Amino acid sequence: MISHARVVIVGCGATGSAIAFLLARAGVGMIRIIDRDYVEPSNLQRQSLFDESDARESAPKALAAARQIARFNSALSLDPHVADLIPQNVDSLLSATDLILDGTDNFETRYLINDYAIKNSVPWIYAAAVGSYAVTMNVLPGQTACLACIFPESPRGTVETCETAGILNSAVNLVASIASTEALKLLIGARPNIRRTLLSWDAWSNQHAEVAASSPRPACRVCGEREFIHLAGEGRPHITLCGRNSVQIHERERPVDFAEISARLAPLGQVRHTDFILKFWRDPYELTLFPDGRAIVKGTTDTAIARSLYARYVGS
Ligand SMILES: [Zn+2]
Repeated sequence: MISHARVVIVGCGATGSAIAFLLARAGVGMIRIIDRDYVEPSNLQRQSLFDESDARESAPKALAAARQIARFNSALSLDPHVADLIPQNVDSLLSATDLILDGTDNFETRYLINDYAIKNSVPWIYAAAVGSYAVTMNVLPGQTACLACIFPESPRGTVETCETAGILNSAVNLVASIASTEALKLLIGARPNIRRTLLSWDAWSNQHAEVAASSPRPACRVCGEREFIHLAGEGRPHITLCGRNSVQIHERERPVDFAEISARLAPLGQVRHTDFILKFWRDPYELTLFPDGRAIVKGTTDTAIARSLYARYVGS
């Protein structure tokens, strides 16, 4: 029954928003939303769960999405997490769900999801939209190919980032519609109807292609040899985010006191905080701090600069 189904959506930008919207309207019982980012005005062109007031208050996307969904489906149980999915938290954040949906924008996180899903036998759906191009695949552990069967390495050549390509909002809705439909089939047990291909569709050039993905590749490192290197991950201290001149830092978890930091930073630049986020501007940088000590430094892609700014303004 759909109303008893529990899903987790990893990443709630454009694709994640659209998938959450469709599954919440369809009456899925529980949706956990994991997102590390906050809403900005440039997101509103394609991220359909957010509005201008979310952008004005730099609302964390997971919380803003849950707030919006609750307005049209109050019966749904929502479990938002403002967090970056990493090897250290993957077990707790992905546990106790029937299906994992991909709303991320990077292969690093997708490989982590794939490792977790294969190891724990949880189905997941890969979904991505870049430019006018939508691509998606269902992964049924042990039955179909996994992400690493098809892409043993991150497909760099084909991956334009949203930064260089921009995103057509209808390509987002296209991939979200396909992925959500597959999700519903899976959740109600209509397994024979589930698509077993890697589907790609360019909404602008009208080219579409399907690559067979109906069985695991025997030599696959993940589903064949069961080597879960991404779960074991050495950790990813810095990540350059998509679509922005910025670096994320989450070297260690530390609770931070926004009031104390605000008072300390006030003489040095402009500072503002809510319960969920602290922003500090000092030309040419903008530092955004989350309550667990994670930060996004905007204005550089140099991890050394970002790290030193973090050490100076937050602590080392
Ligand atoms: Zn595989």
